[in-house]
Amino acid sequence: MTKLENIALNDQQFDLQHIWHPYTSMLKPLPTFKVKKAYGALIELEDGRTLIDGMSSWWCAIHGYNHPELNQAAIDQLQNMSHIMFGGLTHQPAIDLARLLIEITPPSLDKIFYADSGSVAVEVALKMAVQYWTSQGNSKKTNFVTPRSGYHGDTWNAMSVCDPVTGMHQIFGSSLPNRIFVPAPQTTFAEDWDPADIVELENELSRNHSTIAALILEPIVQGAGGMRFYHPEYLRQAKLLCEKYQILLIFDEIATGFGRTGKLFAWEHAGVEPDIMCIGKGLTGGYMTLSATLTSKHVAETISLGEAGVFMHGPTFMANPLACAVALKSTQLLLSQDWQSNIQRIEGQLNQYLPQLSQLDYVKDVRVLGAIGVVELTFNVDMQSLQQKFIDQGIWIRPFGKLVYVMPPYIISKQELELLLQALVKVVKEMQEI
Ligand code: PMP
Repeated sequence: MTKLENIALNDQQFDLQHIWHPYTSMLKPLPTFKVKKAYGALIELEDGRTLIDGMSSWWCAIHGYNHPELNQAAIDQLQNMSHIMFGGLTHQPAIDLARLLIEITPPSLDKIFYADSGSVAVEVALKMAVQYWTSQGNSKKTNFVTPRSGYHGDTWNAMSVCDPVTGMHQIFGSSLPNRIFVPAPQTTFAEDWDPADIVELENELSRNHSTIAALILEPIVQGAGGMRFYHPEYLRQAKLLCEKYQILLIFDEIATGFGRTGKLFAWEHAGVEPDIMCIGKGLTGGYMTLSATLTSKHVAETISLGEAGVFMHGPTFMANPLACAVALKSTQLLLSQDWQSNIQRIEGQLNQYLPQLSQLDYVKDVRVLGAIGVVELTFNVDMQSLQQKFIDQGIWIRPFGKLVYVMPPYIISKQELELLLQALVKVVKEMQEI
């Protein structure tokens, strides 16, 4: 007896019919490509083809795949324990990682909460902000303000602060809490600052500050909401407004952290410290899921003064030792290298190859920041056919919407990156507007 209608399905068919992949239809699933192994900046498919990785598995695999030092850190930790509950117990990997993360994040943040994924780190940040105010007897400050074009994750409250159009608001309708949205920052990273950019935020804060717990945003780079790079002055102005109207400032550095934008964390572009900051993705070098939410002594102690006396969150896999041990090694590895020059090298190559595409009439914009290269088209791509073309060229790039973008592992060699970008340029040049 088997539940499966057809046990003769091969792996490929079984995968398509029974396993959900991100954002794919169960009726018309997009093809998936079976990976045998991955090492360095290469992904080896089961059918023998090898692809140069342009995605770092969605910003995570900063040191590439199958890194001997990260492997060893996992093996060493496995000899002791892979997991132990964090309630009432603690362990060396959590302590050592916290020491390091507190050292490299904004000076005012010295309390850390380990969570399971980026989305959960965002949930934790939002809950911290609300508890900060309720602890002081203010139960009105429970809402959030956020720029449009943001992305903060797929869980309930994280979703509520994603862009209301490209996010999932229409589908989930009134089941999502209503947030306050302000226009996305318009002045790009390198343009002259336009003070008009901050006016709507000021207007909203002056009108609604009594109900707003925090402003949440992705500093400098709005990732999945459009891969937009904006001006650091926006953050400086936003911080001043938060102080003026007594609103906490949350930075979601889940995508921007660990060197991707050319600074270790994106807040450094503006020199503005948030009250709460989320990190994840590259934290474990892409080995497993782990995230963290950092805050200040003041916020943490204020929360503890409230009626509950504690912060109300405690996931089962909080501070998973295996993940902490690998995260520690990954962060040490990053810091032990001249990572800035390496990111500049990648940025230089992105700038060498991608700008030629802006001459095409169906390319709206080409932009590069740190180890992120973006080609924005004038139309939505047919992901399936474009993906296939990239694979035929031996590269792994997963476009979405109007965007073809790359954020390769930092260990990608000059030659691999050259091949990746030459292939990307060739495929985009051959595209026909649909
Ligand atoms: N915030 C940002 C800025 C992100 O880019 C993401 C993931 N793309 C998340 C939060 C959610 O992280 P996760 O997928 O690990 O839940």
